Amino acid sequence: MDDTVSEKYRRAGTIAAAARVYGASLLKPGVSVLEVANNVESMILEKGADLAFPVNISIDEGAAHFSPRHDDTLILKRGDVVKLDVGAHIDGYIADTAKTVEIETDNYSTMIKASNDALEHAIHVLKEGVDLSEIGKVVEETIKSYGHKPITNLSGHSLERYKLHSGMSVPSVSATHSKAKPVEGDVLAIEPFATNGVGRVVSGKGSNIYLCNKSIRSKVIRDNRLKMLFNRLFIKFKTLPFAERWCEDLFPDGGELALKKLSFLGLIKHYPQLIEAKGGIVTQKEHTVIVKDDGCEVIT
Ligand code: MN
Ligand code: MN
Repeated sequence: MDDTVSEKYRRAGTIAAAARVYGASLLKPGVSVLEVANNVESMILEKGADLAFPVNISIDEGAAHFSPRHDDTLILKRGDVVKLDVGAHIDGYIADTAKTVEIETDNYSTMIKASNDALEHAIHVLKEGVDLSEIGKVVEETIKSYGHKPITNLSGHSLERYKLHSGMSVPSVSATHSKAKPVEGDVLAIEPFATNGVGRVVSGKGSNIYLCNKSIRSKVIRDNRLKMLFNRLFIKFKTLPFAERWCEDLFPDGGELALKKLSFLGLIKHYPQLIEAKGGIVTQKEHTVIVKDDGCEVIT
């Protein structure tokens, strides 16, 4: 990785980390998730990065993929176990980071520690040439040592320019077969999830998070208005996820219906929320790292 690129990753990482810390400080009873998301996203932009994806605020059994709508009325309350997941990019070089905050109670501190420690141990083991199933083993053993389960069907991922999830997966269990071995300069997001449920997520309702399907050319769209909307979305968000909230100015007369039509046509993907299969509480911790020959550099 050349110096210009690593510098961009580091700047994105510093800003994403600051946004995570700031966002965590906002998680208080009575605060709306919409306010938290808007404030964190404004901070990322003010610091000179772009948004790599909508701020995710997932509560209790929600593991990932929830971002408030433009008119969301959801309010945080005491006892909520909140996963705050933020992403910033500089020129397409993405930093992705998350933490879990339990609001004013202390019922799940062991589970929070389990995912925190699993990440720390994984980072300790990661270096060029390490079989990624080794990372899965470390994550699984750490989380189980706290009496919890790793979420087996969520994994970390490699990142490439303007690609949040590129080729490699970083598993959270040893059994996951992974022949992938990272090399120096690869960028990975490691994100262990722990739960007291069954250890698996299922798809729930819509997340309000979307992604343009770049493999479909807008030429195939017959409806001129939809074609124009799709082109606007693709120009603005490229290959990165975006929020329904961010489309208000693009769709002055009813954003939601346009997004629905575009997803029905397969032009954009609407992500579902990811919910623990038996309603277990979920915790998560995530950092983005650059792989080195003798270890890795945490940029977030
Ligand atoms: Mn993330
Ligand atoms: Mn991630």
